[in-house]
Amino acid sequence: MSREKYNQVFDLLEKHHKWFSESIPLIASENIPSPAVREAYASDFGNRYAEGWPGERVYAGCKFIDEVELITIDLAKKLFNAEFADVRPISGVCANLAVYSAFTNPNDTMMALPIPSGGHISHGQKKFSGTAGLVHGLNIEYFAFDREEMNIDVDQSKQRIEKLIENNNKPTFAMFGGSLFLFPHPMKELKDFLQSHDIFICYDSAHVSGLIAGKQFQDPLREGAQTMTLSTHKTLPGPQGGMVLSFDKYAEDIKKSVFPGNTSNHHLHSVAGKAIAFAEMIEFGEEYSVQTVKNARALAEALSSKGIVVLGEKNGFTASHQIAVDVSKYGDGGKFEHELEEANLIANRQLLPGDIKAGRDYKRPGGIRLGSSEVTRLGMKESEMQEIANFIHRIIVKKETPENVKKDIIEFRSQFTKVHYAFETLSDAYKYIKIR
Ligand SMILES: *Cc1c(COP(=O)(O)O)cnc(C)c1O
Repeated sequence: MSREKYNQVFDLLEKHHKWFSESIPLIASENIPSPAVREAYASDFGNRYAEGWPGERVYAGCKFIDEVELITIDLAKKLFNAEFADVRPISGVCANLAVYSAFTNPNDTMMALPIPSGGHISHGQKKFSGTAGLVHGLNIEYFAFDREEMNIDVDQSKQRIEKLIENNNKPTFAMFGGSLFLFPHPMKELKDFLQSHDIFICYDSAHVSGLIAGKQFQDPLREGAQTMTLSTHKTLPGPQGGMVLSFDKYAEDIKKSVFPGNTSNHHLHSVAGKAIAFAEMIEFGEEYSVQTVKNARALAEALSSKGIVVLGEKNGFTASHQIAVDVSKYGDGGKFEHELEEANLIANRQLLPGDIKAGRDYKRPGGIRLGSSEVTRLGMKESEMQEIANFIHRIIVKKETPENVKKDIIEFRSQFTKVHYAFETLSDAYKYIKIR
């Protein structure tokens, strides 16, 4: 019985790999790391403990781990032009928690975006089980959001903050960045105002850190952010993990907050994978990011030319890897997420601004969010975005059966087997690695 289950798990893993090698991966928060990153990730580092900072560990056995972690830190600082990097947070949420713990107290008020306007659950209120509210006891107030611009409204946000100050509820912390994130946030424009009120500025670049590293999005540490948190596996094509970047003057507070505050052991195989990914990004990141943004725009334009509503049209649909498609004319995001998946096109449903007021919820929202980073890493360019738009149109508008479209998707995908923008591209992107 246990042997049967054991075999079954490996069967399922192999099936997953095969399925992904025949699918179009458009989840905006996912990516495919290089074979080199996967090799580092599979190493024995993942079985060790190295609590603390390199050279000051609580455990023995760390001499090579320490060297790797110091290289990872150096590469991170170089890639993001940062004075300080803590590469230990094991996820983006963990990085945010470390920053909340370092720079706020429970009951403080934080400015952030609500989820339908792009905020992440880790910026959320306690009543939604958001990390900031539930775990660190922060009160969350919202920036004003302009749906036409698909961005934070600077003047109205200032007015809201002034009102909060009048009501003795002065925010102490402002969180920029988000999960539905089409255009750079106006942090430069709000920086002086926030600083004049002694409001600490953090920028959550979980989604866009790869684009920032490739110099194709805003540069938070130069635009007013005092700290920057990120995931290492979204547009940044590393292993799953997190990171905090900042300035030397905040380093000690961040270090204590990461360890022992918010992690005991950090994931050392992930640290090694981060180093490999950062090295590849220093070499290939700009080229990859340029193509990623071009592809997102091309996909938006292709869908829009077929009559499908894509948000942010006024500003060219997107300046990131993401596009937000309003499918409410044809059905709902939940239904289409399922049908697209049946056709081997992996994308996720998305709450759009205005959805809650219109009576929609996260199970049946009005939108689909599409991300271009993983298909870009598979070597796709603008002309392939046209083909992807066709597949989506056939399912959402023409109501073709997913089965029918799936055959064409499998054939289309068979031309793209390798990871690009990497030092070594020998093995197939989704190759199942057997070491038993
Ligand atoms: C994905 C995301 C996170 C969380 O990252 P994990 O690495 O999944 O913990 C945090 N903030 C934003 C804005 C995100 O989109």
